[in-house]
Amino acid sequence: MSGSEINVSHNRSRFPNGSEIVVVGAGAAGLAAAWTLAGRRKDSKCRVRVLEASDKIGGRMFCEKVDGFHVYSGASVIHESFATTRELARELDVELRQSPKKKGGQSYVGDRFWGLYVGGSLKQTLQTLQTLFFSPQHTLSGNLEFMRLFAMLRKRAKDLDFEDHTRMLDLDTGESFAEFARANSLTRYLKQAGELDLNCFTAGSSEQVGAAYGMALLWLWTINPATRNYLPKQGISTFANALADSCARFIQVSTRVARITIEDGRVRGVVTTSGEKIEADAVICATTASTAARIIPESLGELRALLEQVSYSSCCNVAFGLNANILADGSHAALFPSESPSFLTMVTNLAAMTPDAAPSGKTLVHALIIGKHARAFFALDDGQIVGRVIEEMRRFFPAMPERPLFARVYRWPEALCLSPGGMLSDMHDMRTRPHKHMGGLFLAGDYTRLPSLNGAIKSGVEAAEASLSYIAEAEAAKLR
Ligand SMILES: Cc1cc2nc3c(=O)[nH]c(=O)nc-3n(C[C@H](O)[C@H](O)[C@H](O)COP(=O)(O)OP(=O)(O)OC[C@H]3O[C@@H](n4cnc5c(N)ncnc54)[C@H](O)[C@@H]3O)c2cc1C
Repeated sequence: MSGSEINVSHNRSRFPNGSEIVVVGAGAAGLAAAWTLAGRRKDSKCRVRVLEASDKIGGRMFCEKVDGFHVYSGASVIHESFATTRELARELDVELRQSPKKKGGQSYVGDRFWGLYVGGSLKQTLQTLQTLFFSPQHTLSGNLEFMRLFAMLRKRAKDLDFEDHTRMLDLDTGESFAEFARANSLTRYLKQAGELDLNCFTAGSSEQVGAAYGMALLWLWTINPATRNYLPKQGISTFANALADSCARFIQVSTRVARITIEDGRVRGVVTTSGEKIEADAVICATTASTAARIIPESLGELRALLEQVSYSSCCNVAFGLNANILADGSHAALFPSESPSFLTMVTNLAAMTPDAAPSGKTLVHALIIGKHARAFFALDDGQIVGRVIEEMRRFFPAMPERPLFARVYRWPEALCLSPGGMLSDMHDMRTRPHKHMGGLFLAGDYTRLPSLNGAIKSGVEAAEASLSYIAEAEAAKLR
């Protein structure tokens, strides 16, 4: 159904006891908005209704329990600088624990894995030195470029922050991270480490990711060894499920919004794909940017055009329950650079960080396939994908069994927002510039901030606060 075919007439008298706020989408942003409206601001007297297109709650942070394993489909890690997320966890009584200082990973280069460990055993430190000096991927000039980038980013450390990206807007020059690296003679560092890190963090490439976003990701997740992650004992699912449960009573699943309606410059409600018309005094659109561009009215042409420029990567995340760890001891991830002979990009064992995510003695491993390989997989059924991934993993991890305890496939055609050059500034302008003709419509979602779980959650909280202020102002105006 195209948006322009829908003609709605609304009956305002349906809501005599308070204003109605409709949230479109029950991902992190939509749930954070609903929690703010109904949990944190119980006194607001607004009624909240969350409409979710799929039959699952959580969007890209959906988690499920499978045979005692706490499996995540998308987001898995909460960074130290996710202040809004950590505050929300505290309100939901979810205890977050700092990750151990020890970190470790391996990259497949040539025909073997090379390890990089922080704070590990003497053997692991020696392996790290061996990697830095003898791995074909690492060169002296690449290591020197890394140190130069470290010094550059350290100068801006206080601005590189997932909580408040407004201090790094000057770094969002319109360049991609690859262009920034070329302009600053950092291409050998990019080839030896930066590109692969960005592949893993965004499922995209340095050509697709904006310079400012790339700097923040690299500094916060890898380059600055001082920063840590925070997770519940059983992994992110404890947080995701607590948030979903706190909002469950407002959520209507399997309800896809076809159009948000605006009349006389003010939001009137939404229309679902089944033709149901739902009135609202305010609407928080908490979908991806591409969906938002499709469901907001055509009259908001400038905004639609901006939303259409937001780009996403694709990935396929395949989870396996296993009887034993298949990665090297002390290693949370095995990485495969794009030139390696595999379609895998990353295999993680986060259970090493959150041992209670798997039943005692067992482990949970996720394989990530990105870009064109992921898109080719989308045409296959789950059984075919699982079969191919197991076969591939057995080439590199001899302990990978032919028959895991279980496997789950999660397909993300829009996986991670790539925040291309200029997007942070454009989105900042969009949020701060008052838009005519869209009274009561608020946009939330990771794309409106520095893309991350925290960006999504913060956008939901702020959209909820803004919608309450809008309604209060409208009520006050009626009384004048
Ligand atoms: C594999 C993977 C790993 C990740 N790892 C991390 C990580 O470790 N740390 C981190 O910070 N971030 C991570 N992310 C990113 C993080 O998951 C997202 O930034 C965040 O969850 C986005 O939340 P959102 O609410 O903005 O969007 P979404 O989660 O996409 O929510 C949008 C919701 O809207 C619904 N919807 C869409 N269209 C309609 C419609 N027409 N009507 C009604 N509902 C609709 C969707 O079904 C969905 O539930 C990862 C993402 C992926 C895919």
